[in-house]
Amino acid sequence: MKHLSFEGGIHPGDFKDIAKNHEIKEVLPGDIVLIPLSQHIGAPAIPLVEKGDEVLVGQLIAEAGGFVSANVHSSVSGKVKGIKSSFSTTGFQVQCIEIENNHLYEHVSFDSRLLENVEKEEILERIKNAGVVGMGGAGFPSHVKLAPKNPEAIDCLIVNAAECEPYITADYRCMLEASDEFLLGIEVVLKLFDKAVAYIGIEDNKMDCIALLQDKCKDKDNIKVIPLVTKYPQGGERQLIHAITGRKLNSSMLPNDVGCIVNNVESFIAIKKAVIDGIPAYQRILTLSGDCLQSPGNYLISVGMTHQELIDQTGGFVLTPSKIISGGPMMGFSIFHLDTPFTKTSSSIVCLHEDVVSMCESSVCINCGRCVSVCPSKLVPSRLAKAAENGDQQGFMDYHGLECIECGSCSYVCPAKKHLKQSISNAKKQIIAKNRGKK
Ligand code: SF4
Ligand code: SF4
Repeated sequence: MKHLSFEGGIHPGDFKDIAKNHEIKEVLPGDIVLIPLSQHIGAPAIPLVEKGDEVLVGQLIAEAGGFVSANVHSSVSGKVKGIKSSFSTTGFQVQCIEIENNHLYEHVSFDSRLLENVEKEEILERIKNAGVVGMGGAGFPSHVKLAPKNPEAIDCLIVNAAECEPYITADYRCMLEASDEFLLGIEVVLKLFDKAVAYIGIEDNKMDCIALLQDKCKDKDNIKVIPLVTKYPQGGERQLIHAITGRKLNSSMLPNDVGCIVNNVESFIAIKKAVIDGIPAYQRILTLSGDCLQSPGNYLISVGMTHQELIDQTGGFVLTPSKIISGGPMMGFSIFHLDTPFTKTSSSIVCLHEDVVSMCESSVCINCGRCVSVCPSKLVPSRLAKAAENGDQQGFMDYHGLECIECGSCSYVCPAKKHLKQSISNAKKQIIAKNRGKK
């Protein structure tokens, strides 16, 4: 079968061997968890508990504070110490519910269902109640994404299993170790869209996953496993939709405008847990990788435990990291405080030694055109960055800067080491904020 792809993109070293053969292990939190009220886009959740309250694992402790917000549940049993602020992985301060862990892990009773016994409305209700959000990093509440204005027009459920960022292997391990849960999550979502077929897009550097899932799906007419060329950013939403369906969308469109819903591997597992098992989203699997760690691997962690705790419990550092990234090295965020708590959207931590971190000074553009040839959005990054640096917002818009998906491919290939993505991303933020202010 032909392996599908998109135009442009890059082939960075994938470094997946560091973690890919490590089976998922559970790591439990320490004495305190800090559970953020903002683990999703949209308004922070509103606390339902106060200092001194006793809570159980899976108990609702904060409810959605707006339309694109999500419920928050406790990941431990214990006593609420209060609300305090903490750094988030994006460097902002967020409010968190602080809970003293009694290490008993007593939980609320989970109310299970059989797939054949749940109707569409109840599926959406259970996903909403469980606080499921897009677990690939975006944090869009799943009950909103799965209730588009045109459900009858959705014919493609695209499963983003590309995992194209270097180092990250959590989706790979989930597909190998929890393939039945993953496929059941897909079947739950298919029940919402009468004419949809699911397409699981997997890069061809995971042939064992492709073979396993193709075998498990051989008798399923409505789930297809699609091998994709290994190329970054193959898992970009627009690139994935185009590679699999040939349909195109721009920055003003949503996938459902072209009949698609896109979700990542762990989101389907969280949906299965929510709808079939009645278990809310208070744990997730993430990859701990890089060249500085004693025990890189894939870990089941609880929301609210800190980066420091995971690193300590897995043996700590063997080399001093020069950079610690939350998410992948291409699109993630450098973090400066290891006391930062994990959220539902924490997909990985990559700890890199100074030997592998580029510290080069940027120099002037030599007009080589490499940034243009790799841009998956067919933009001219050098020109956009120049407009951004000159504060020329009109020029930035004229060169279609808002179509940038911030993949970083241009910065990666630039021989002058120009911070193209960073300049473009800053300009986009300013223009989007300005446009919001006008409304
Ligand atoms: S301009 Fe944007 S979309 Fe194009 S390569 Fe650079 S970061 Fe990626
Ligand atoms: S890759 Fe760098 S040096 Fe080459 S054209 Fe683009 S900005 Fe200029």
